[in-house]
Amino acid sequence: MPSHDLVPLDLTADVVVVGGGPAGTWAALTAAESGADVLLLDKGYCGTSGPTASGGTGVWYTRPDPAEREKAMAGREALGGFLQDRRWMARVLDQTYENMNRLEAEARYPFPIVDGEPYKRGVQGPEYMRRMRSWIKRAGVRILDHSPATELLVDGSGTVAGVRGHRRQHGTDYRVRARAVVLATGGCAFLSKALGCDVSTGDGALFAAEAGAEMSGMEFSNAYGIAPAFTSVTKTAYYGFATFFHSDGTPLDGAGSQGGRSVIARELLRTGIVLCQIDQATPEQQEQMRLGQPNFFLPFNRLGIDPFTDRFPVTLLLEGTVRGTGGIRITGDDCATTVPGLYAAGDAATRELICGAFTGGGSHNSAWAMSSGTFAGRGAAAFATSLGASAVRRKLIGVGGAGIRPDEGGRAVGRDDALDVIRRQVHPYDKNYLRNGSRLRPALAHLDAVWEGFRGGAIAHGGELPGLRQAAAMVAHARWMYTSALARTESRGMARREEYPDLDPNQHHRIAVGGLDRIWTRPEAVTGREPAAA
Ligand SMILES: Cc1cc2nc3c(=O)[nH]c(=O)nc-3n(C[C@H](O)[C@H](O)[C@H](O)COP(=O)(O)OP(=O)(O)OC[C@H]3O[C@@H](n4cnc5c(N)ncnc54)[C@H](O)[C@@H]3O)c2cc1C
Repeated sequence: MPSHDLVPLDLTADVVVVGGGPAGTWAALTAAESGADVLLLDKGYCGTSGPTASGGTGVWYTRPDPAEREKAMAGREALGGFLQDRRWMARVLDQTYENMNRLEAEARYPFPIVDGEPYKRGVQGPEYMRRMRSWIKRAGVRILDHSPATELLVDGSGTVAGVRGHRRQHGTDYRVRARAVVLATGGCAFLSKALGCDVSTGDGALFAAEAGAEMSGMEFSNAYGIAPAFTSVTKTAYYGFATFFHSDGTPLDGAGSQGGRSVIARELLRTGIVLCQIDQATPEQQEQMRLGQPNFFLPFNRLGIDPFTDRFPVTLLLEGTVRGTGGIRITGDDCATTVPGLYAAGDAATRELICGAFTGGGSHNSAWAMSSGTFAGRGAAAFATSLGASAVRRKLIGVGGAGIRPDEGGRAVGRDDALDVIRRQVHPYDKNYLRNGSRLRPALAHLDAVWEGFRGGAIAHGGELPGLRQAAAMVAHARWMYTSALARTESRGMARREEYPDLDPNQHHRIAVGGLDRIWTRPEAVTGREPAAA
C-alpha cells in the first residue's frame, strides 16, 4: 500500500539524471564514475520503462578497423541528406565500441556467440536494462522510480539548479537541488501505442525549452513504424523482406518498408487494410531474425500465424522523435545545451550529428543513447565540480509554465483537449506522414490554439500534474515539428513535402527551432565533414 506521505521530499545531488533508459543509465554511471553524487529519476521503473527496455535494439557497433568504420559512416549519409557530422560519427562509434565491451566485461551481458565470437550488434532490452540498473546501483547511483519530473529549477542567473516532480507511489511531491541536470527522457511518440513508448511524451524537451534551450531537426520527426495490426511491435527493418498486398490479395505495387511506406499509408487511408507476408527472407535470415528479436514473434506464435508463410494485416504507428532525429540542440562535445548546467542525451537530444535527416530502423539510436549518455554524464559531473561551495545556497526558481503557472486571463484548455488535438492533428498519416503545406498550416493553427488555451488556465497539482505536463509537452513538440517542417521547403531524409519532392542543395543546413508561446526557426550551418555530394 502506498504510504501517502504528504511531506514533500527534499533531496540534493551533484548530478540529477532525468530518465532511466539506456541514455540515462549510461549518463548516471559515467557521472558516478567521475566522482559525482548522482540521483536518477524515472517516470516508470528504471530497467523496464521505455522502448529499449520493452524490446531490443540493433546497435551501431563496429570494430576500430578503418575500412569497417568508413563503411559504417558512409552507409547512410545519402539517406540522412548529408546533414551528419563525420567527427561525431567517429566519436560515437568509438564510444559505442567501448561501452559494448564494458557491458560484456563489467556488467556480464551474455552476448550470443556467432561464428565463434560474441555478437555485439544488438541487445535484448530487458536483459540489457536489468543489468544497467544493477550496474548503476553498484556504482552508488540512487534511483527514484515512479517519480516523473515535472519541471526544472534554475538559479537567479538562469543556470539549472534542480528538478521538481511527483512520487506516484507515495502521493507526494519532491524537489532535488542539484549542480547539474542531464535530460534523458526519451523522444516523443505522441501516445500512439507503439511498443514501450507510453512514457515517450517529450517531457524533457518541454522542460529544456522552458529553461531557454533550443531544439534542432524537429522536421525529421515523422517516423511511422510498420506493425502487425494486432500488436504494438514496430520492427520495421524486418519488413525489408516483406511483400504487401491489397485486401483482395493482389500485390500492392510500390509498397515497401523503405521508400514505399507512403504507398502503405495511402492504402490505409483509402481502405484501412494492407496485408503483408515476410516471404523474401531466406531460412538463414529467418533464423537471424528469431535470434535478434524473439519478442517480434510472440504475438504471431500466440495467434498461430507464421509471418514467413501467412499473410497478416499491418498498420503504421507513429514513433515521432523516438525513431526520428529531432531533439534538444546540443552545443558541445559534452552534450551541453544552450542552458548552463543542462545536458541532454539519447532520444531527448537531436541525433542529427550522427544520423542527419533520417534514422528510422536500425542501430544508430541505441549507439547514440549509450554514447551521448556517456558524454553528458561526464560533462555534467565536470560542471558540478566547477561550481563553488555556494552553489548549495542558490535560490531555486521553478520555470515550468503550461499546467503549472498559467498566464492570466486566457481560456482554460484541459488535458483531454490537448490529447484530442494530438489525435486529430498529429497521428493522421495525411497530416504528419504525407506532408503538404496546405494540410500542415491548418493543423498547426489548431495546435497553436490549444497551446494558447493551455497557457491561459490549465493547472494541476500532485498526481494530476505529470499527465497535464505530458500533454503540454506533446503539443509543444508538435508545434516545433510542424513549424520546422514548413520551414524546410524541400524533401530531405525523412522530411518529405508533397509539393517540394526534390532535395534543394541550397537548403543543406540544419534547422534550429525554439520558443513556446512564439515559435521561431533559424538555419544552422552543418558542422563536420561535408561530402562533395551534398
Ligand atoms: C519498437 C522499437 C524498436 C526499436 N528498435 C531499435 C533498434 O533496433 N535499434 C536502435 O538503435 N533503436 C531502436 N529503437 C529506438 C530506441 O529504442 C531508442 O532510441 C532508445 O530507447 C532511446 O533511449 P533513451 O534512453 O534516450 O530513451 P528511452 O529508452 O525512451 O528512456 C527514457 C526514460 O525516461 C523516462 N522518462 C520520460 N519522461 C520522464 C519524466 N518526466 N520524468 C522522469 N523520467 C522520465 C522514461 O520512463 C524512460 O525510462 C526502437 C524503438 C522502438 C519503439
